[in-house]
Parts: sequence; structure tokens; C-alpha cells
Amino acid sequence: MEKGNYALVFCGHPFGYEVQATAKLFIPGVRFILCEDGVIPEEIPNILLTERTENADRHSPVCLRVQILLHGQQGEKQDTLPPDADRSVQEWTLCRMLYDVLHELTGYTPPWGLLTGIRPVRRLLQMAEGRSLEEAAEEMQQCYRISDAKMQLALTTARIQQPILPHSSKEIGLYISVPFCPTRCSYCSFVSHSMETAYKLIPAYVDKLCEEIAVLGDMIRRYGLTVQSVYIGGGTPTSLNAAQLRTVMEAAAAHIAIDRAREYTVEAGRADTITEEKLRVIREMGATRISINPQTMHDHVLETIGRRHTVQQVLDAFETARAVGFDDINMDLIAGLPGDDEAGFAESLSRVMALDPESITVHTLSVKRSATMYQSDAVQNTVPAVERMAELAARQLPAGGWMPYYLYRQKNTIGNLENVGYAKPGKENLYNILIMDETQTILGAGCAASTKLIAPGGDITRVMNYKFPYEYIDRFDLMMEKKQEIEAVLRKMQEENHVS
Ligand code: SF4
Repeated sequence: MEKGNYALVFCGHPFGYEVQATAKLFIPGVRFILCEDGVIPEEIPNILLTERTENADRHSPVCLRVQILLHGQQGEKQDTLPPDADRSVQEWTLCRMLYDVLHELTGYTPPWGLLTGIRPVRRLLQMAEGRSLEEAAEEMQQCYRISDAKMQLALTTARIQQPILPHSSKEIGLYISVPFCPTRCSYCSFVSHSMETAYKLIPAYVDKLCEEIAVLGDMIRRYGLTVQSVYIGGGTPTSLNAAQLRTVMEAAAAHIAIDRAREYTVEAGRADTITEEKLRVIREMGATRISINPQTMHDHVLETIGRRHTVQQVLDAFETARAVGFDDINMDLIAGLPGDDEAGFAESLSRVMALDPESITVHTLSVKRSATMYQSDAVQNTVPAVERMAELAARQLPAGGWMPYYLYRQKNTIGNLENVGYAKPGKENLYNILIMDETQTILGAGCAASTKLIAPGGDITRVMNYKFPYEYIDRFDLMMEKKQEIEAVLRKMQEENHVS
């Protein structure tokens, strides 16, 4: 669909975010022209008007209206609510009317229905408080009009997560960020600097990262916390050479009781950065799990998306990792890559399954504005085609013994579909669950890492590190002062007897 040809008009209401999210369920991948205060632009062929009429007085009903002109077709809906209708009810009603008109005009039924949130499983678990998951799933499905297949996926995932979720606020996760990659994949919007421009920063970055790990280790000790999961991610952590990797992992081992952690993952990621020497360092330093992410098992697709490695390098990296002794390997695939199609995705899936990794994560292509692919209009797969790819994975992986254990949705994903982690029983990655579930504190080290402190009541405090490596290095001392915020929250939790 052409960008710039769609106007989303907000008139007399503040529900822009949810209204836009609802419109994107049906019209993904376009840049809406957002028009506030009901000003309708001229010469734009597709107009989505959403309107709330102000109360003339406190006793008048609230009038809501949706009027759409889409590809020459028109649709309209109106509703009235009592004068004292809650804002959330008004928002929900307006979005539901927008959904209904778009559904009528396009004939499309979004698989997740009206649900726009990125954490369906968390929503289900919240709705299940005080009752069974099955009862909550029934209500959730009706409320959001979720398809049977997606509701079943969320329910199965929630059943697997429930016994794994943490119960003590003393247990935390630790994330260590290495934001470097050899080249930038065309769909990537992550802070990841190409090796060519950022390589020189790596030694200074490693020094500062180790300093920060020491600071966090000290805090963890003083507040009596236990690190349950460690995740070194990126970027591509194996962009570091073996000695640099060793330095970072030694810092982690020196300052954190890693041997007490339930799991320790290093995202090796791209096959062009994986060597036997690095794998041996990772294993020797105590990591229990790695990721080797092909994304596709077709060389021409790898080339199209700017990953400068081959399928053969993926196969070699996997074989080396097994030879080095890794018995917990994750592999990522992406459904909907440009240059790929349903048959190609099916082949990638079966080739990865044949390798028999312990977990397989299936993402749906998401292209954010900052990705080079967003500018190029290179997304070629249709929504139904990508839906069928996701469905294929959801059928074949459980049949092969990999069960869904975490799932989340991303904005700008084709078809507003989901990313799903599938794992063999007992190989579910706690960190992946926790990052989505938001029920456990995660301390973050490194650039663009965020620390998320979760108080037992559920209150979340976020403390962000600088986004770019040069800022992280240059303003490190300033950033360390911000660690006081983390200390203050931990102290408060401790004083309230929540932590110790
Ligand atoms: S490997 Fe990951 S983080 Fe690095 S450029 Fe590609 S998508 Fe981005």
C-alpha cells in the first residue's frame, strides 16, 4: 500500500494511540497522516475519521462516530454512551466501531481480533487471577474476538509459563548488552553499529561494560539478590573477539554468583561471527545456552536482507557448537522476509528442525521506520501468506516436540502477528519469559540496556542506559550517577521488607 495515502483523523478525543493501533490491524505498513482536531486534508483518497462529540452539558450523552472512505468504499458507525461513561469505555467503544467498519470494508479478520497489546499471554495470566486459565481464555477470546488458533496458542504458552514464573522478588535477571554487528540487516531497527564504523570503540566499550558489571554485582550483593538468569545479547555479542568475550564473561563471573543462576545465555547470533575459539570461551566461562540465528536457510534471502553469511556457515557453526559441548541451542527464523515465500519458509523450518536444536524461535517480519527496509518498500509477502507461515510453524513445531513457551507481538509486524519461542520440555528460556512477563526485576548493563525494577505490588521503575556506544563510553560517569535511582528503589524495597 502506498505510504502517505491514508489520513487518520482524530476529532474531539484523546484516544490517538489505540485508534491508530486498531487501524494498523487492517492497514499495516503504511504511514498514516495523523490529523488532529478533525481537519480533513484534501486530495488524500483514504480517510478514517474518528469522532467524539463534546458534551453540551454534563447530562448529555457522549456521541461517538466512525466514518471511513477506503479505496472508494464507504462505511460508518455511530454510538452513544451515558454522560458519565468512563474514558476507557469510550476508547474501547470507538476502537470497536473502527474495527467493525474496517472489518466490513476489507473483509479481513485479524487473527488476534481487537487485541492490540504486545503481551497476550501476560493479559491472559492477569485475567486468570482467582480463576482457571481456561475460564480466563474463554472470556478473553470473546472480549477481543481472538481466533481459536491464536487463543489456543496463548493458552498453551500460558500453561507452560505458569509453573516457571518467579515467586520471589529476591530473584532477578541480568542483561548484558553488546551492541555491535558485522553489518546491519535491512530489517533491523535495533541499536547496532556496523563493525566498520564502530570497531574502534569496542576495547573502550568492553572496559566500561566490565566496570558497570562490577557496580551491578556490588548492588546485587548488598541487597541480597540472586541472579536467576543471565543473558548476553545485542547486537551480536560474538562480534567481540575471543579475548574480549572472555574479559566480559570473566567480569560477570567475578562479580556475580553465576554458578547459582538457573541459566546463562550468550546470543551468538550471526554465523559469520562464530568461531570455535569463541564457542570454547563461552562454554568455559559457564554459559549454558547459545543462539545461532539463521533467520532463513536460503542464501539468496540472506543476501537480500544484508546478512553476509551463508547457510553453510550456519550449519558449520551449529556442528562446531555441538562438538564443543553445547546441549542447549536456540535458532531463530523469520517468516515474511523479502525474497522468501511460503515454500521457502517451510523448507527453512524443516531444515532447522532437522538440526534438532533445543529451541526454535519463529519471528514475523517487523519493519520499523529506522530500518533500511522500511524506506525501500521491499516487504513482498502478503499478510495471508505470512499468516500461513506462522500457522505452519505453530502446527509443525509442537508435532516435532517443540512447545510454545513465550510469545509477544511487535508493532509494525506483518499481519500484527506474533513472535513465538518454541522449546523442548525443560529447555524453556526463563529470561525470554521474564522480559515479556514483567514480573521480575532485570538489571541491564551496557549501552541501550534498560534496568526494570519490579516492586512486589507490580510497580515498574525503568532506568535506561545511553543508547549509543560513544555516549556510553564518554558519559559513563554521568550514567553511573543514574545508578543512584536503582539503589533508591532497591533500598525502598528492602526497607519495606520486600527484598530482604
Ligand atoms: S544481527 Fe540482529 S541486531 Fe545485528 S543487525 Fe542483524 S537484526 Fe540487527
